[in-house]
Amino acid sequence: MRIPLSKPSLGKEEEALVLSVLRSGQLTRGPILRQFEQEFAEYLGVKHAVGVSSGTAALHIALLSLGIEPGDEVITTPFSFVASVNAILYVRARPVFVDIDPKTYNIDVNKIEDKITPQTKAILPVHVFGVPCDMDRLMELCEFHNLFLLEDACESLGATYGKNKLGSFGHASVFSGYPNKNITWVEGGMFCTDDDDISRLARMLRNQGRDESTWLTHHTVGYNYRLSDVHSAIGLAQLRKIEEINKKRDNLARYYTMQLRNLPLLTPFHLPGRVWFVYVIELEEDRDAIMSGLRERGIECKPYFQPIHLQPYYRKAQLKGRFPVCEEVSKRVLALPFYTGMAKNEVKVVVEALKAVL
Ligand SMILES: *Cc1c(COP(=O)(O)O)cnc(C)c1O
Repeated sequence: MRIPLSKPSLGKEEEALVLSVLRSGQLTRGPILRQFEQEFAEYLGVKHAVGVSSGTAALHIALLSLGIEPGDEVITTPFSFVASVNAILYVRARPVFVDIDPKTYNIDVNKIEDKITPQTKAILPVHVFGVPCDMDRLMELCEFHNLFLLEDACESLGATYGKNKLGSFGHASVFSGYPNKNITWVEGGMFCTDDDDISRLARMLRNQGRDESTWLTHHTVGYNYRLSDVHSAIGLAQLRKIEEINKKRDNLARYYTMQLRNLPLLTPFHLPGRVWFVYVIELEEDRDAIMSGLRERGIECKPYFQPIHLQPYYRKAQLKGRFPVCEEVSKRVLALPFYTGMAKNEVKVVVEALKAVL
């Protein structure tokens, strides 16, 4: 039995809505995109949602529409998917890394203030694996130092902090619909904000700098970051099932953790408000041997994440050793197969394989 790391969960609703778009003749910039944006904004509790072609594109237009400029500093985490840092580099700003909290894997809010300089313009926290960052502290820091707060919520759609959804706290937030995320719209992203001006700018930037009310008048250098109605149809059908999907993933994670008790490993954090993007354990030792043992048994698994500051393209910055918690955690983490449609007996197969190789 081969068990993949992740697998999208699509059904009749997605098929029906895609088919209706294909038959409608309006494949892009149409009513289903607007419907998806509207329901997404309502679900999140924000004023505006702008559909774009990827989470990375959402990050890029977020930084541009917040006015981040070359030479500005953006405080962020080295323990993330590489896109959150790449987008900072796209606008020629400078990523300033802060180490992580080993109890959440999120940016350590107590280490941020030391890194703030007159060049600092924004903080870009990532809700890693679906675990909420300390939003009270982040908002307080941003307010006090007059900084923008941009939430990378790509892994945390549906997660809450207090009464509100992640992605509704910052000046802007971004989501991804990549197939391994909690819900998917194949390739796509969503940019969210409460600010009318920021939203208007983001809409222009996603469509070649065009003001939506005019034809071929370009106010700024924009991009083609549009999200098609075909993709939106899949996202909309998925969004309408998100509560059920997140509930299934939560049950699955609980089942995993129960099955893994008493093994020499650390199970993930069952923290309030979180959702489950991936199921990541921490191993004490021999991760490479355990990974190859699992793979020999047909179980896909991945070390998730490797520190961004140690990626080959980042090595010239010579930051090795500067974020020791991140580097330590990165050596121990292992993502196990985890997806909405995963059956309990598949979890058991993974657990048995893990027991055998440990
Ligand atoms: C997936 C992801 C992204 C990028 O999303 P894409 O749609 O693949 O461009 C950005 N940040 C984080 C934290 C992610 O997990």
